[in-house]
Amino acid sequence: MNIEDIYKRYTEHYLVDTDTRKIRSNTLFFALKGENFNGNEFAEKALELGAKYAIIDEADFEIEGKTILVDNVLETLQNLAKHHRNQLNIPIIGLTGSNGKTTTKELINCVLSEKYKTTATVGNLNNHIGVPLTLLSITTSTEIGIVEMGANHQKEIAFLCSIAQPDFGYITNFGKAHLEGFEGIEGVIKGKSELYKYLIKNNKTAFVNPKDTIQVEKTENCKSVLFSDKIKFLEANPFVKLTYNSNIISSNLIGKYNYTNIVAAITFGNYFNVPDEKITKAIENYSPTNNRSQIIKTNNNKIILDAYNANPSSMKAALDNFSVLKDTRKTVILGDMFELGEDSSKEHQIIVDLCDSYSFKNTFYVGELFYKTKTKNKTFKTFEDLKQHVIKKPLEDQSILIKGSRGMQLERVLDFIN
Ligand code: ATP
Ligand code: MG
Repeated sequence: MNIEDIYKRYTEHYLVDTDTRKIRSNTLFFALKGENFNGNEFAEKALELGAKYAIIDEADFEIEGKTILVDNVLETLQNLAKHHRNQLNIPIIGLTGSNGKTTTKELINCVLSEKYKTTATVGNLNNHIGVPLTLLSITTSTEIGIVEMGANHQKEIAFLCSIAQPDFGYITNFGKAHLEGFEGIEGVIKGKSELYKYLIKNNKTAFVNPKDTIQVEKTENCKSVLFSDKIKFLEANPFVKLTYNSNIISSNLIGKYNYTNIVAAITFGNYFNVPDEKITKAIENYSPTNNRSQIIKTNNNKIILDAYNANPSSMKAALDNFSVLKDTRKTVILGDMFELGEDSSKEHQIIVDLCDSYSFKNTFYVGELFYKTKTKNKTFKTFEDLKQHVIKKPLEDQSILIKGSRGMQLERVLDFIN
């Protein structure tokens, strides 16, 4: 069956699913394959649960009139998304960068949805499957689409751009994340800049932070919208406060890095003519979730939980920010940073040197990578070792920054710090 025929079936209900545990009735089920599963095996189940058709790529699983056999389910999903994108006559915003994509996407979405019907990436669905699914979640009533694009190697952003075809693009930052796949920071800059390449080639528009010299340099030949200069930073103690025109915006976001994310969202709002007071309201109402810079007050302590992920850039940003907080009794718990390739031990040592230089009241490092560094502070090889230590010597009346890579699952400290 060709893509137009599949498209006809998709436009009957504009629903696409890939997971039989979350199937919706009348959906098109795409039987994707993963490392440990073969979606074809679930096609029958999906149909039983209410899917209208199942797209499969193994003839053994055909069910007359119900399955659509294609060469490759993933490619079909991607082609369908691209085909759908081509029918859409609405602005699509593409976001990438090393850190802050999801936060910036959420903020932009909050701001633009004050005036428009928006559809944005759900959660962190930002890869070669998530981007097509995001595009296919855009229906005829959507007025602006906001698409987060993630990458951990070259050519990935170029590929995602070829599907999403963004009219506007913004790169949150170029940081030391996924250094392994990108082969160093130069590789990160090159890989992320594939978004600019797409925008330049297609005469589309980049949003640019004039303080980021790489952004400025890479968008020299691109139509650009510069961050509004009517925005001024006031403080991040711990929540970011800023002025915008004559409005004071008090956000629920901590960390100076979030100031940049907010400025990006204001600039998008401004560009799309969202009234100033609605922009202010949208930003003030936004609270982060999922362990991204959340403040949690426990009985005895205040926890800044930034355990969602970590890499050298975001670790440094978090430490610098924590160091200037006015709180006096500070504890830091840092977990290993993954995916750093050959720079791994060097980058862990850099973070240790920086963190040690701040002389916080307590500094705890946890994980095998931090364990190998040289430090005057405590290192714990395993999470369990950290746990035993804290149980023996409980923390009290502290402001505690917690940050580590996703795999470290540092949010587990909430089980024993109270
Ligand atoms: P992922 O790669 O997992 O999709 P992301 O780019 O979507 O991550 P967020 O989830 O928004 O990023 O934020 C993750 C963490 O990155 C935050 O908790 C914070 O520590 C850090 N961070 C957020 N924004 C910035 C920024 N502009 N610059 C540096 N670090 C940031
Ligand atoms: Mg994200």
